Amino acid sequence: SETSDQLAAFFQSGIYRFSNCAVSVVFMDPVRVLNRSYSRFRVSPSTYYSRFFSSNLAADFAHRETELSSSSKKRKRKEKKPPLLNEREQAADQRHQLARPLLLKAHECLIGASELLGILRSLSCDSSSMAERRKPTVVETEPSFVELGKVWQAPLYEIALKFPRSCRSNENEGDIVDQCCDPGLVPVFNNLVVNETGDEVEAEFLSRKYVIPLESCFYMSDLGKIQNLIPEVYNADAKNVQVLVYIPMVSRNRCNPFCWFVAADSGSGFNLILIDPPWENASAHQKLMYPTLPNRYFLSLPIKKLVHSDGALVGLWVTNWERLRNFVLEELFPSWGVTYAASLFWLKVKADGSLTSDLDLFHHRPYECLLLAYCNTKGEGGCELQSGMGGTMEDQVVISIPGDYSRKPPVGELLQKYVPGVGPPRCIELFAREMMAGWASWGNEPLHFQDSHYFLLN
Ligand code: SAM
Repeated sequence: SETSDQLAAFFQSGIYRFSNCAVSVVFMDPVRVLNRSYSRFRVSPSTYYSRFFSSNLAADFAHRETELSSSSKKRKRKEKKPPLLNEREQAADQRHQLARPLLLKAHECLIGASELLGILRSLSCDSSSMAERRKPTVVETEPSFVELGKVWQAPLYEIALKFPRSCRSNENEGDIVDQCCDPGLVPVFNNLVVNETGDEVEAEFLSRKYVIPLESCFYMSDLGKIQNLIPEVYNADAKNVQVLVYIPMVSRNRCNPFCWFVAADSGSGFNLILIDPPWENASAHQKLMYPTLPNRYFLSLPIKKLVHSDGALVGLWVTNWERLRNFVLEELFPSWGVTYAASLFWLKVKADGSLTSDLDLFHHRPYECLLLAYCNTKGEGGCELQSGMGGTMEDQVVISIPGDYSRKPPVGELLQKYVPGVGPPRCIELFAREMMAGWASWGNEPLHFQDSHYFLLN
């Protein structure tokens, strides 16, 4: 039947497309989407979804429940006496009212898809006849890349890249000589580390293992060093990049390490730039999870210089805080030279399909927003919107069950059809905590979710 085909497609791709849904909405299983980056490993569903499924994390739920019931009590109190919203809150409420019909419709589509609802609870199961569990017996504390990157010894920390030992026979003056690649030790901070092979590679750092997807690279540094990702800077002063290391080519030669840095006119730069900044907010919990930065820091992100000569689609995750929205639309986007085009809403649900909080809860919305903007370098003086580029974009919704704190669903693929450019899109994520095949990841902890304890062996 049609529904079974949809479900079969979902099991393959991790993306469920609703039939007969009037709005643009999909349900996503981030685990399945991420797993398309790996062959020997797979992301462990139970680890990915630990926050919204696991019973030993019931405390998290309990906390959430009290939080919700106390806010609903507050709401009830407020309902008796309608609160007076200040100007900014009114603007925020107006924006919510505009998004509300789309979000409600999207949620209705999920609730109507009984076959999908029926398997939601099983998404967090690790067991599969094909898979062998590979959980470390003792999960020691993970190193904090953020802290290690700040110490004076940071330049000395090295990661051991353990690509499969591969040998190639070369003819040298009539003799056949085997050339073998051995694991390399390379600086882990302020260094571009590229896996240009067609297979994932295991790496070792401080006795822990990390999985590096095929044809991907990471640059782990503080914001101040982001300039090193820019081709002109790199070409003009190679010393700016400490060491450029790559894992020797094994099977393909599609991605030469220097392709990340060649001159702008020969196709460097990125066509898709996803950014999830560490915005400041009042949550004490957030402060424990990662450092935040004041808004003005993001004005200095060199977005224009990261853009490919064919232009780029820029996606920026924002909070529902009105003051932040205004800053982004009035100051940040103009300073980056990008033009707002549409929004992608991430609607968060629990394993039973219900929303993670009441849709109308003022300070605790069950959705977040990715603002989509275009930058076209062909225009005079930097970025400019070119008509017809990438197709017209409408607001859309992605529904998923959240993973770890602040972890966003991997939406890159859903945006591909809007990405400008002729070649295969070149993609980068800024402030990344994970890696994806074919992507560049920059941030102060891009290896965070690459720790092998988030993975199972296939
Ligand atoms: N998109 C990520 C995910 O899905 O897991 C979450 C990104 S989180 C909102 C922001 C990230 O920015 C955190 O990893 C944080 O450590 C990092 N960050 C904070 N200050 C930074 C700085 N000065 N330089 C580089 N990265 C920084």
